[in-house]
Amino acid sequence: MAGNGCAVTTYHAAAKVSGRSNTKQGKMSMSERTGGCQCGATRYQVTGEPKQVLACHCTDCQKQSGSAFGLVMVVDEEAFQLTKGSVRSFVSTSDAGREKTGAFCPECGSRIYHLIAWRPGMLSVRAGTLDDTAWLQPTVHLWTSSKQPWVIVPDDVTAYETQPG
Ligand SMILES: [Zn+2]
Ligand SMILES: [Zn+2]
Repeated sequence: MAGNGCAVTTYHAAAKVSGRSNTKQGKMSMSERTGGCQCGATRYQVTGEPKQVLACHCTDCQKQSGSAFGLVMVVDEEAFQLTKGSVRSFVSTSDAGREKTGAFCPECGSRIYHLIAWRPGMLSVRAGTLDDTAWLQPTVHLWTSSKQPWVIVPDDVTAYETQPG
Protein backbone atom coordinates (compact mmCIF):
# COMPACT_ATOMS: atom_id res chain seq x y z
CA MET A 1 0.00 0.00 0.00
CA ALA A 2 2.82 2.36 0.88
CA GLY A 3 4.23 1.85 -2.62
CA ASN A 4 0.93 2.81 -4.28
CA GLY A 5 0.67 5.97 -2.23
CA CYS A 6 4.11 6.95 -3.34
CA ALA A 7 3.20 6.44 -7.00
CA VAL A 8 0.10 8.61 -6.66
CA THR A 9 2.12 11.39 -5.09
CA THR A 10 4.58 11.28 -7.96
CA TYR A 11 1.75 11.46 -10.48
CA HIS A 12 0.24 14.58 -8.87
CA ALA A 13 3.63 16.27 -8.75
CA ALA A 14 4.12 15.66 -12.47
CA ALA A 15 0.64 17.03 -13.25
CA LYS A 16 1.43 20.23 -11.37
CA VAL A 17 4.59 20.83 -13.36
CA SER A 18 2.85 20.43 -16.72
CA GLY A 19 0.06 22.71 -15.47
CA ARG A 20 2.56 25.40 -14.68
CA SER A 21 3.97 25.39 -18.21
CA ASN A 22 0.45 26.13 -19.46
CA THR A 23 -0.04 29.43 -17.66
CA LYS A 24 -0.85 31.14 -20.95
CA GLN A 25 -3.89 28.92 -21.44
CA GLY A 26 -4.94 29.65 -17.88
CA LYS A 27 -4.87 33.39 -18.61
CA MET A 28 -6.92 32.97 -21.76
CA SER A 29 -9.82 31.61 -19.74
CA MET A 30 -9.92 34.77 -17.62
CA SER A 31 -11.85 37.80 -18.73
CA GLU A 32 -9.96 39.71 -21.40
CA ARG A 33 -10.84 43.01 -22.98
CA THR A 34 -9.19 44.42 -26.06
CA GLY A 35 -9.02 47.88 -27.51
CA GLY A 36 -6.95 50.26 -29.54
CA CYS A 37 -6.52 53.68 -31.03
CA GLN A 38 -8.46 55.22 -33.89
CA CYS A 39 -5.95 54.24 -36.63
CA GLY A 40 -5.25 50.72 -35.35
CA ALA A 41 -1.47 51.17 -34.95
CA THR A 42 -1.72 50.80 -31.18
CA ARG A 43 -3.60 47.88 -29.65
CA TYR A 44 -3.92 46.67 -26.07
CA GLN A 45 -5.42 43.99 -23.91
CA VAL A 46 -6.71 44.10 -20.34
CA THR A 47 -6.92 40.93 -18.26
CA GLY A 48 -9.43 40.54 -15.46
CA GLU A 49 -12.18 42.82 -14.23
CA PRO A 50 -11.75 46.60 -14.04
CA LYS A 51 -11.53 48.06 -10.54
CA GLN A 52 -13.90 50.87 -11.42
CA VAL A 53 -15.60 52.58 -14.34
CA LEU A 54 -15.99 56.31 -13.85
CA ALA A 55 -16.95 59.47 -15.66
CA CYS A 56 -14.77 62.51 -15.02
CA HIS A 57 -16.27 65.91 -15.77
CA CYS A 58 -13.13 67.92 -14.97
CA THR A 59 -12.15 70.59 -17.49
CA ASP A 60 -8.90 68.74 -18.18
CA CYS A 61 -10.81 65.64 -19.34
CA GLN A 62 -13.12 67.86 -21.39
CA LYS A 63 -10.17 69.56 -23.04
CA GLN A 64 -8.22 66.36 -23.65
CA SER A 65 -11.16 64.43 -25.09
CA GLY A 66 -12.71 67.39 -26.89
CA SER A 67 -15.96 66.13 -25.42
CA ALA A 68 -18.22 66.51 -22.39
CA PHE A 69 -16.40 64.18 -20.00
CA GLY A 70 -13.76 61.49 -19.77
CA LEU A 71 -14.86 57.86 -19.55
CA VAL A 72 -12.32 55.90 -17.57
CA MET A 73 -11.77 52.25 -16.74
CA VAL A 74 -9.38 51.87 -13.80
CA VAL A 75 -7.24 48.71 -13.95
CA ASP A 76 -4.12 47.34 -12.30
CA GLU A 77 -1.01 48.36 -14.18
CA GLU A 78 0.02 44.72 -14.67
CA ALA A 79 -3.41 43.84 -16.08
CA PHE A 80 -2.78 46.15 -19.02
CA GLN A 81 -0.61 45.07 -21.94
CA LEU A 82 0.19 46.75 -25.22
CA THR A 83 -0.20 44.11 -27.93
CA LYS A 84 0.68 46.26 -30.94
CA GLY A 85 2.51 49.51 -31.55
CA SER A 86 3.69 51.88 -28.86
CA VAL A 87 2.57 54.99 -27.03
CA ARG A 88 3.98 58.46 -26.53
CA SER A 89 3.48 60.39 -23.31
CA PHE A 90 2.29 63.82 -22.34
CA VAL A 91 2.51 65.08 -18.76
CA SER A 92 -0.14 67.48 -17.50
CA THR A 93 -1.52 68.77 -14.22
CA SER A 94 -5.08 67.94 -13.19
CA ASP A 95 -7.71 70.35 -11.83
CA ALA A 96 -6.66 69.19 -8.37
CA GLY A 97 -3.09 70.24 -9.12
CA ARG A 98 -1.75 66.70 -9.42
CA GLU A 99 0.44 65.32 -12.14
CA LYS A 100 -0.74 62.78 -14.65
CA THR A 101 0.82 61.25 -17.71
CA GLY A 102 -1.30 60.67 -20.77
CA ALA A 103 -0.27 57.94 -23.21
CA PHE A 104 -1.40 58.24 -26.80
CA CYS A 105 -0.89 56.63 -30.20
CA PRO A 106 2.03 58.39 -31.95
CA GLU A 107 0.30 57.96 -35.33
CA CYS A 108 -3.24 59.22 -34.75
CA GLY A 109 -2.99 60.83 -31.30
CA SER A 110 -5.82 58.84 -29.69
CA ARG A 111 -5.40 58.93 -25.92
CA ILE A 112 -5.14 55.34 -24.67
CA TYR A 113 -4.58 55.66 -20.91
CA HIS A 114 -3.46 57.89 -18.09
CA LEU A 115 -0.89 57.10 -15.44
CA ILE A 116 -1.93 59.03 -12.39
CA ALA A 117 0.65 59.96 -9.79
CA TRP A 118 -1.73 59.61 -6.81
CA ARG A 119 -2.91 56.18 -7.90
CA PRO A 120 0.34 54.23 -8.06
CA GLY A 121 0.16 50.80 -9.70
CA MET A 122 -3.00 51.65 -11.59
CA LEU A 123 -3.88 52.78 -15.08
CA SER A 124 -6.87 54.82 -16.16
CA VAL A 125 -7.75 53.41 -19.56
CA ARG A 126 -9.71 55.76 -21.81
CA ALA A 127 -12.65 53.38 -21.96
CA GLY A 128 -13.99 54.64 -25.28
CA THR A 129 -10.97 52.97 -26.94
CA LEU A 130 -12.27 49.50 -26.02
CA ASP A 131 -13.53 47.31 -28.85
CA ASP A 132 -16.67 46.56 -26.87
CA THR A 133 -18.06 49.57 -25.03
CA ALA A 134 -21.65 48.32 -24.66
CA TRP A 135 -21.10 47.10 -21.07
CA LEU A 136 -19.57 50.34 -19.83
CA GLN A 137 -21.58 52.07 -17.16
CA PRO A 138 -19.85 54.50 -14.83
CA THR A 139 -20.69 53.96 -11.16
CA VAL A 140 -18.75 57.05 -10.04
CA HIS A 141 -18.90 60.61 -11.40
CA LEU A 142 -16.10 63.02 -10.55
CA TRP A 143 -15.95 66.82 -10.82
CA THR A 144 -19.68 67.32 -11.31
CA SER A 145 -19.02 70.98 -10.40
CA SER A 146 -17.70 71.48 -13.95
CA LYS A 147 -19.99 69.07 -15.80
CA GLN A 148 -22.03 70.22 -18.78
CA PRO A 149 -25.46 71.33 -17.49
CA TRP A 150 -27.29 68.95 -19.84
CA VAL A 151 -25.47 65.88 -18.48
CA ILE A 152 -27.83 64.26 -15.99
CA VAL A 153 -26.01 62.18 -13.39
CA PRO A 154 -28.13 59.11 -12.48
CA ASP A 155 -29.43 58.88 -8.90
CA ASP A 156 -27.90 55.46 -8.25
CA VAL A 157 -24.26 56.44 -8.77
CA THR A 158 -21.71 58.04 -6.47
CA ALA A 159 -21.11 61.65 -7.48
CA TYR A 160 -18.43 64.02 -6.24
CA GLU A 161 -18.34 67.75 -6.88
CA THR A 162 -14.56 67.49 -7.16
CA GLN A 163 -12.80 64.25 -6.37
CA PRO A 164 -12.25 62.23 -3.20
CA GLY A 165 -8.84 61.81 -1.63
ZN1 LIG B 1 -3.40 55.29 -33.81
ZN1 LIG C 1 -10.92 64.40 -15.39
